[in-house]
Amino acid sequence: MTQPVLSVRDLRVEFPTRSGTLVAVDGVSLDIAPGEILGVVGESGAGKSMTGMAVLGLLEPPGRIAAGEVRLAGARIDNLDERGLERVRGREIGAIFQDPLTSLNPVLSIGDQLVETIRVHTRCDRRTAREQAVAALTAVGIPAPTTRIDHFPHQFSGGMRQRVVIALALCANPKLVIADEPTTALDVSIQAQITALLKRLCKEHGTAVMLITHDMGVIAETADRVAVMYAGRLAEVGPVLDVIREPRHPYTRGLMGSIPSLRSRVDELVQIDGSMPRLDRMPPGCAFHPRCPDAGPRCARERPDPHPVGTGAVACWLEQGGVNGG
Ligand code: SF4
Repeated sequence: MTQPVLSVRDLRVEFPTRSGTLVAVDGVSLDIAPGEILGVVGESGAGKSMTGMAVLGLLEPPGRIAAGEVRLAGARIDNLDERGLERVRGREIGAIFQDPLTSLNPVLSIGDQLVETIRVHTRCDRRTAREQAVAALTAVGIPAPTTRIDHFPHQFSGGMRQRVVIALALCANPKLVIADEPTTALDVSIQAQITALLKRLCKEHGTAVMLITHDMGVIAETADRVAVMYAGRLAEVGPVLDVIREPRHPYTRGLMGSIPSLRSRVDELVQIDGSMPRLDRMPPGCAFHPRCPDAGPRCARERPDPHPVGTGAVACWLEQGGVNGG
């Protein structure tokens, strides 16, 4: 098997508080191959953005990686200092966030931002960098790029701004892109264009993508594989079509069952009673057991870890010896 671009092993993210340690990501392992799009899906608070931020080295203090490893093309990056992380971010990992304005400097023209990024990472002269910047804007579908390159972020619509952010994230030809809810803030009519653009460009460049979203419709249209997260843990991982056709974890089944057109939002699910546990009230055993229609006595006692099943992996006792025994 080709070496994964991103390999996360047993990642644990903790937030120490006065009343105890909160575990936001608990034992998550993921791989993303070159050119592969892994969709990470779950309700808000499931730990998906926290996983992305941990990979980027952007956890807000006091949040920290307490255990596990993050490797980029085989090299550990979770133990780098801030300078090392800054080098990796931008050059090797591009980031796209929900709000394009988070990634853009409002007082610089988009051309200056692109040229600066391209020059930092490729060390070419200003003229060549500007030519590359125009090419990057053309590739993301900005009309009249030779004029628009001198405009400022506020002179673009939300959808056009996100295209600029995609150009910025990809202009250094990173190995990995982390896209966290890249279309959530955009008009529905624009969302599909932006995800299609991201998918096309990453496939063309062989870039691995971690696509974090609560929208299963976006995952179905864009991702190759999907990782379903619940309460900071992985519930199920597998090829997206297999998981959609035959979800094995009861939580994933709930997600699919309550999505009539696969365009609904996970936040609006109605078929799973109750809500995800708070980090300071995590139940013992399987974190989903208070809401699970299939739970048995073992589920409240023992925690299931992801276990290979079919083409993927599932963390559920139903797939590992039953919910009664153990
Ligand atoms: Fe439900 Fe038990 Fe499976 Fe958890 S381990 S998802 S509670 S059946």
